[in-house]
Amino acid sequence: MTPRLTVFAGLAAILSLAACSPASEPAAEDAAAAGEVNVYSARHYDVDQKLYEQFTEATGIKVNTIEGSAPQLIARMQSEGAASPADVFVAADAGALWRAQEAGLLSPVQSEALNAAIPENLREPEGRWFGFQRRARVVAYDAAKVQPAEIASYEDIASPRFRGQLCVRSSDNIYNLSLVGALIEAWGPEKTAEWARGIVANLARQPEGGDRDQIRAVDAGVCQIALTNSYYYIRMAAGDDAGDRAVTEKVKLAFPSLDGQGAHVNVSGAGVAANAPHREAAIRLLEFLASAEAQTLVSQENGEYPASPGVAAPEPTAAYADFAAHPMPVATYGPRQAEAQALMTAAGWR
Ligand code: FE
Repeated sequence: MTPRLTVFAGLAAILSLAACSPASEPAAEDAAAAGEVNVYSARHYDVDQKLYEQFTEATGIKVNTIEGSAPQLIARMQSEGAASPADVFVAADAGALWRAQEAGLLSPVQSEALNAAIPENLREPEGRWFGFQRRARVVAYDAAKVQPAEIASYEDIASPRFRGQLCVRSSDNIYNLSLVGALIEAWGPEKTAEWARGIVANLARQPEGGDRDQIRAVDAGVCQIALTNSYYYIRMAAGDDAGDRAVTEKVKLAFPSLDGQGAHVNVSGAGVAANAPHREAAIRLLEFLASAEAQTLVSQENGEYPASPGVAAPEPTAAYADFAAHPMPVATYGPRQAEAQALMTAAGWR
C-alpha cells in the first residue's frame, strides 16, 4: 500500500468511527470524551484554524485551541501536570518539539497511518512527535551582487567572500539553534565553531528582527545575503503585499547544500500530550494532519513543503520546491541545542 492510500484508509476509518459514535451518546463517557480535543499550539496561522474546522467537519470532534509561544506552552503544561487538559502540542521547529519531549510532556504514538505518511527522518523515533510540513533554512541573496554558485554550500555563507555582507537573526532563535545543531551533527564541534566565527565576521550588523527582516535588509542594501526559512520568502513572493513582492524581484532564494547532500531541513509538527484526556481524538487529529489533503492545504497557504514524498507541493510553493533536502533525521537537532548555543555564544553571535 502506498503511503497516500494508507492515509486515505485512515481517514475512512476516522469517518466511519465518527458515524457510529455520535458525541451526544450519553451512556458512554468515552464517546463524550472523544467529542473534543484540546490543542496547545505555538503555530498561529489562519490555515491551521481552517484545518481544525475541516477535521471537525470530518469527525465531529471539536477542536479547542490555546495559543502561545512554545516555551510558554511547555511551562503551562508543566505547571498543569497530570491535570493538564492539553491533548496535542503543536510547534514549528524540531528543536521546539524536542524541548516538549525532553520535559516529558509527550507520549509515544504507534499509528500505521502516521508511520506510512511521514518519512522516518521527519519524526521522533518513538512516535513522540511527527513533522507534517518541511521548511528549509536557506539563503536570500541580492541577485545583482551575488551569483548562486557563490552560495552553493553552508561553508560559503561563512567564507571571506561575504565579510560584512550577511544578515541573520540572533543565536538563541530556535531555527538557528537547530541549524547549528545539524552542522555539529555533520561536521563535529571544531569545524562548526570555526563556521560560527566566520558567520560573526560576516555580519553586516548585530542580529535583530526575524527572518523577514533579514530578507528586507538585503533589499535595502544592508547586506548581500541573509539566512532565512524558505516559507517566509515564499509568502513574500506570493502574498498580497505589493512591497513584499517587489522585494522578491530583487532578492532571490538559494538552497545551499550541506556536504553535497542537500539543504538543511526542519519541520513543524505535533505530538500527543503525556496526560492527554482525549488521547484517541488526539491521535485522530495527528492522522488528519498527516493526510495528503491537510499537507496540501498548508503548503498552498503557508509556503511550507509537504512532509510526505508522495504529496506534491502545490502552487505557489511548487515554484520553490525543486531542491535537494538533506536526509539527516530532524530528531538529532534538539540534543545538540545546548552545545550549539554555547558554540555560537563563544563565537560572539548574539
Ligand atoms: Fe517561522
